[in-house]
Amino acid sequence: MAQDQEQPVERTLVLLKPDAVVRGFAGKIISRFEDAALKIVGIKMKQMDAEFTRRHYFDLEERMGPEVYNVTATFMQQGPVIALVLEGADAVATVRKIVGSTFPNEAPAGTIRGDYSHYSKAASIASGKAAANLVHASGNKEEADQEVDLWFDKDELQDYRTLAEIFTY
Ligand code: ADP
Repeated sequence: MAQDQEQPVERTLVLLKPDAVVRGFAGKIISRFEDAALKIVGIKMKQMDAEFTRRHYFDLEERMGPEVYNVTATFMQQGPVIALVLEGADAVATVRKIVGSTFPNEAPAGTIRGDYSHYSKAASIASGKAAANLVHASGNKEEADQEVDLWFDKDELQDYRTLAEIFTY
């Protein structure tokens, strides 16, 4: 019988945004990824400045306009973030599924954004604030590669095997 084609191992960037950190949710959010057998290969805490925020969200202004860019940039610099590189088969799409859609009121229960917030697009517009949605996750493979390179030096990424890799897959 032909062997199933092996799924490529991917790396993706996750940020626990300032609202996740100040609400004390770092541990339980990271647990969600560990529970899904994703491997943490990099982790750090960082206070973003204006220049680094621009580099991270380099196309947000073009995609969403200056107003959304400005409120999001302000929000991201409100306090430190925790950056993670997660590795696994199909990690980019799997992490987006666990995170849920941009506006927490539209994100299904069971997702991080759906479980830990209720904020809507209308509420964002009315308050003039960014959608405080706890987590950033790379949108696709190309973005993931760029973002991992932006946030982490090669020697900050670790190579080891998880029990799941040894015993399950
Ligand atoms: P995602 O983070 O789900 O990939 P985007 O890349 O489109 O979404 O947007 C980046 C971030 O900017 C969002 O996570 C959210 O915090 C903020 N944002 C996007 N659109 C809006 C909006 N219309 N109003 C307020 N904040 C927004």
